[in-house]
Amino acid sequence: MNYLPGQFIKAHVDDVCEEHNDLPAVIRMIGETDSMVCEIIPMCQACYDAAKQYQLEHPDGEDYDCDICHESHPCKPSRDPEEGLNGPIYWICKSCRKKIRKSAKELRDEEDEYYRLKDERDHREAEDEFYRNQ
Ligand SMILES: [Zn+2]
Ligand SMILES: [Zn+2]
Repeated sequence: MNYLPGQFIKAHVDDVCEEHNDLPAVIRMIGETDSMVCEIIPMCQACYDAAKQYQLEHPDGEDYDCDICHESHPCKPSRDPEEGLNGPIYWICKSCRKKIRKSAKELRDEEDEYYRLKDERDHREAEDEFYRNQ
């Protein structure tokens, strides 16, 4: 289950709109999703247009309790990359997403620095070894 809420996926041929049972569904939207269940909502063209419009008007997502700061903010669903595509979904507000991105970058920079120093040290040790054997 590697979909995120709000994502659109192809409808089955015989799907009908959830709102309008007499209309064929042109698309399905991922609804409330957790690691166990994934709600999939078939939509007719009008519902699809409305959903797209809604997403356009709420580019930062709907108000949820952010899983990081536990305050109600517009949140977007995201997965912890460490836990992979089947991991739990977290609802994270914009400022927390920014913080996470920043700390992920700092972590990467630290790692880069660690490996850079380690490389240098390994290189020096190899050199020392080389000269010792002369
Ligand atoms: Zn509809
Ligand atoms: Zn937050």
